[in-house]
Amino acid sequence: MDKTFFPYKLDSDYYRNVKSFGDDFLEYSRKYHFKDDEETLEALCIGVYWYLYGTTSLDLNSNIHQALANLAEYRRAFPEDKIFIDELRGKLLTKFLLKPFKKNNEKLSKDNLELLINFLEATGDYMDQIPHFRSFEHDLDDCPSLTKWFCENSEKYLGEYTCNLDEYLENNGNSHLMEEDVIFYHGHELEYHLNMLGAEIMNRIFKEEYDKRTRKAIILPSCMNANNKNCRAKEERLGQVCTFCNPNCNVYKISREYSEHEVYIVSHESTAFKKAKKEDQEELGIIGITCVLNLISGGWKASNMKIPPQCVLLEHVACKKHWLKEDLYGKINENELKLKF
Ligand code: SF4
Repeated sequence: MDKTFFPYKLDSDYYRNVKSFGDDFLEYSRKYHFKDDEETLEALCIGVYWYLYGTTSLDLNSNIHQALANLAEYRRAFPEDKIFIDELRGKLLTKFLLKPFKKNNEKLSKDNLELLINFLEATGDYMDQIPHFRSFEHDLDDCPSLTKWFCENSEKYLGEYTCNLDEYLENNGNSHLMEEDVIFYHGHELEYHLNMLGAEIMNRIFKEEYDKRTRKAIILPSCMNANNKNCRAKEERLGQVCTFCNPNCNVYKISREYSEHEVYIVSHESTAFKKAKKEDQEELGIIGITCVLNLISGGWKASNMKIPPQCVLLEHVACKKHWLKEDLYGKINENELKLKF
C-alpha cells in the first residue's frame, strides 16, 4: 500500500512549539517598534511574500495582472461561471505566475510593494490580506530584516511539520498545472510556517475581543463530515448545520459536544460569513478550523468583518479538491478546541 504523504502534518507537541516560536518572534520584533502585534504580522507577511515572490512581481506584465485580477473578481461575483473562469485562470496563472524561486535582491520600496500587491491580487488567494498591506505605514526596510530572522528560525520550531513537503510535491509530479489553485498548491515551505506563526499571533491579538462575545460559533471545513456526498446537513444563514445522520462523523461529534454553541460547516473560506448581519458583528466570536495555507486569510477575513476569530488547525490536509486522491476525514486536536471555551 502506498504511504500517504501530506504537505504538512501536526503532532501533539505542535501547539507548544508554535507558542514558543510566537514568544521568541514577538520578543525579537520589539526592536523595530511596530505599533502593535498586528502591524508586526503585516510586516512579516509583506517581507516573506517579497522574499518569495518579489522577482516574479517585478516581471509581471500589467495587462496580465489586470486580466487575472478582473477574472478573480468576476469569479467571486458569479460563482456559477466558475468552471469556465477557472480554466482560463489556471492557464494564465501557470504561464505567467508560477516561476521557480529566484532570490530577490531588489529593495522593498513603496513602488515595489505596489507591484507585489499586484502579484498577490492576480493570484486571487490573498484578497483578505491585501487591505492590510495597502494601509501599512511602518518603515518598509524593517520587513526584510524581520523576515531574515523568521527564515533563519522557522525550521527549528516548525520544520518537522513540513518535512514531507518536498517529497509530497515530487510524488504529485506536475499536479495542478493549468488549474486555478496552482499557486496555492505549490506554496513554499516558508508560507506554511508563516501561516502557522500567523495563526498563533492572531489568536493572541483577537483573544480579548473574542472572549467578550456572547455567541461562539465553530466553523468546520467540509472535509470533516464523514460521508461528504450523503451528508444531510441543512443550509442555514451562516453555513450548513448538522442533522446528526451518522454517529461516526466528526461533525456529529463536535456538534453534540458543543451543543450550547453554534456549529457550521462551510465548504469554502470565500463563502464564509457572506450573510453575516450586524447582530453577528456585535455578538459573534468564531473558532475557524482550517488547513494551514488558509489560516492568515481566514483570520483577517473574519476580523475585517468585525467577527473576532480564534483558530485550530486541521492535523493534515484532507480533501481531494486540492490535495489528495481521495477525501480523508479531517481531524483536529480536541484539547486545543476545548481551550477556546
Ligand atoms: S452527521 Fe451531520 S455533518 Fe456528518 S454527514 Fe450527517 S448531517 Fe453531515
